[in-house]
Amino acid sequence: LHGVVALDGPSGTGKTTVARKLAAALGAGYLDTGAMYRVVTLAVLREGIDPDDSVAVAAFAGHVEVGVGTDPARPRARLGGEDVGEQIRAERVNGAVSAVSAVPAVRELLVTGQREIIASVLRSVGGIVVDGRDIGTVVAPDAPLKVYLTASAEVRAARRSAQDSAAGRTLTAEQALASVDRRDTLDSTRKTSPMRPAEDAVVFDTTELTIDQVIVALSELASQ
Ligand code: C5P
Repeated sequence: LHGVVALDGPSGTGKTTVARKLAAALGAGYLDTGAMYRVVTLAVLREGIDPDDSVAVAAFAGHVEVGVGTDPARPRARLGGEDVGEQIRAERVNGAVSAVSAVPAVRELLVTGQREIIASVLRSVGGIVVDGRDIGTVVAPDAPLKVYLTASAEVRAARRSAQDSAAGRTLTAEQALASVDRRDTLDSTRKTSPMRPAEDAVVFDTTELTIDQVIVALSELASQ
């Protein structure tokens, strides 16, 4: 793969699994931008800052050392020197991440960091699959391939539930749906860079497809 594949869409569409497997299949790097917003959110919560206090979050964000890996086989997330790959998936982070990521100063910092990582991977590996909400619209608007994954609310809740039970949490289908829905509503209605498909994105409904079918379809698009 040469260049950037921008992979956007709401949670529970299988986006992250698809992005990692697609990157591995194409011999490309992988960037999980959601992990970066999650690391900042974890730091905010540990610091005892109210995630809805946008002034305090903005003032603190510049002090957070966010580290992410770009190997699709081993995506890592670090806060300073600490591996926080598991902590950033905790339910309290899910509940706070939309508020933190709506703060313009947080987005500015992280988008700058994301563009640097993308440029560096393009120099070394040549191609990268970038997973997020605003990749096609803001982070990499020149990406030759932009994909926006969707799925029905029921399927997204079921996929989210499966992820949660794999992580040892038990959410009912209703709780999973409520959690996913709440985050997607906040993410798509915020003022700065709301989640939406880029005008030239391929919108891909994954409701009736397995992850592997989605990957086959996207690999074909990427090699065109
Ligand atoms: O993809 P993931 O579910 O890990 O993303 C967590 C949250 O980070 C999203 O719900 C959204 O609030 C935020 N996010 C964002 N922009 C991105 C990626 C994630 O605002 N590019």
